[in-house]
Amino acid sequence: MTKINKLLIANRGEIALRVMRTAREMRIKTVAIFSEADRNALHVRYADEAVCVGPAPSSESYLKADAIIEVCRQLNVDAIHPGYGFLSENANFARMVRQAGLIFVGPSPEAIEIMGSKLAAKAAVAGYNIPMVPGTPSAITDRAEAKTISAQIGYPVLIKASAGGGGKGMRIVENDAEFDEQMDRAVSEALSAFGDGSVFIEKYVTSPRHVEIQVLGDQHGNIIHLFERECSVQRRHQKVVEEAPSAILTPEIRDAMGRAAVDVARACGYYGAGTVEFIVNDNLDFYFLEMNTRLQVEHPVTEQITGVDLVKQMIYVAEGKPLTIRQEDLQIKGHAVEVRVYAEDPANNFLPDVGTLDTYVRPQGNGVRVDDGFEQGMAIPIYYDPMIAKLITYGDSREEAIQKMIRAIDEYQISGVQTTLPFCRFVMEHPAFRSGQFDTGFVGNYFTPDVLTRKPDQTESQLAAVLAAYLLETSKPQSSGAAVPVTQQKSKWKMNRLG
Ligand code: ADP
Repeated sequence: MTKINKLLIANRGEIALRVMRTAREMRIKTVAIFSEADRNALHVRYADEAVCVGPAPSSESYLKADAIIEVCRQLNVDAIHPGYGFLSENANFARMVRQAGLIFVGPSPEAIEIMGSKLAAKAAVAGYNIPMVPGTPSAITDRAEAKTISAQIGYPVLIKASAGGGGKGMRIVENDAEFDEQMDRAVSEALSAFGDGSVFIEKYVTSPRHVEIQVLGDQHGNIIHLFERECSVQRRHQKVVEEAPSAILTPEIRDAMGRAAVDVARACGYYGAGTVEFIVNDNLDFYFLEMNTRLQVEHPVTEQITGVDLVKQMIYVAEGKPLTIRQEDLQIKGHAVEVRVYAEDPANNFLPDVGTLDTYVRPQGNGVRVDDGFEQGMAIPIYYDPMIAKLITYGDSREEAIQKMIRAIDEYQISGVQTTLPFCRFVMEHPAFRSGQFDTGFVGNYFTPDVLTRKPDQTESQLAAVLAAYLLETSKPQSSGAAVPVTQQKSKWKMNRLG
């Protein structure tokens, strides 16, 4: 076991601060790196030491593996936490860190490599009886054959980049006639985003819900799961609203998914914190999608419902300590919701709207957590992801967490840029979200920019109120995490509607 005394955080923004806070609680010294665009950033001020590693573009700063390792040498750093994005899922970087005699706070380079390719991941878990979406087991080389397979699986199908991430390089194909065009697009998108044009086919799951399981493993072969997060409200295949637990899982399905996720982690000898993503259909059948070998943006909802500090656990694991949490010790307590506050204009196709935060006042109070990296007067740099903050609320029940979220969104004061907050408020008030009856098509099905300016009419408000009362009533035994079965919610929902 090696005690970490000084940790470099190879990241910026809210995640850099989030990791540093836990490190400080553990009496570990923190080192920030920053680009010229981030001189005044909060993570730079918060750290014990901070070093500029290059100009604004991330390829010249936050992605400069050599420069980062050199900083570690100069400042006697023991370990690197990569956060998410940037170098966090770069197996070469993890290998360089190891070769430099430093600790990488994350899994082994080998595990990152396997799970970094969706196809390699599917191959690795093949022996574990994990349900998988029907599709091609390897990259498409022959288009005619790919079309035959698509016809056999049944349209619509998805063409996906093996190296994919962030929803890029993914195309829905509705029929044989549009196959070639969508294939060309997927390949060119994959090439430009990942430098790897390999694509494969998966059946497009209709009414899909995105449910993922948090896993945690140590270097001694112990792996546990910390239940699920549901991230079905997405724009451009990217998450905006997340919650834990999911509104629809039964304890039996939760258990089966948890076990499948632990098997996926075992298949690549995983240690550290990771996330196994599944897609769930309207019959509650679940299929393995991919594994993310890092801390996720949405990890706080899991922390809120389990009481486990995931960063602290990652650091213990990296030090070589065995896990002290056993699966049977874990329980879901309450419900947490997270909304991502992006500098984006929901009324304009969610296009980034960077600028200066003329007003920036965070909401506060019981059950409200804000993970951010900005203060009033700061500019949001154009060079990086335009996420300003994550707003997380926590309550005894789903309904309470949602009501807190609406209150917190109303208190959040941001001016100078457009944000996703009004959209997130719309989601919180929407009967589909409130009832738990939604899928990844939420934005396409229900959202048009005019809903942001329109006040909900009386029937909608009444409906939401009735539904809220009903859900409060039926979700009383929340401590077990049990959800109201879908069918039951549906029929009651219909009754309310008629009534
Ligand atoms: P990425 O690595 O780009 O995030 P994922 O495989 O995790 O790609 O998928 C991202 C999102 O795309 C999912 O959350 C889901 O909304 C959608 N998706 C992926 N695969 C399928 C599928 N087979 N059927 C329907 N939707 C899918």
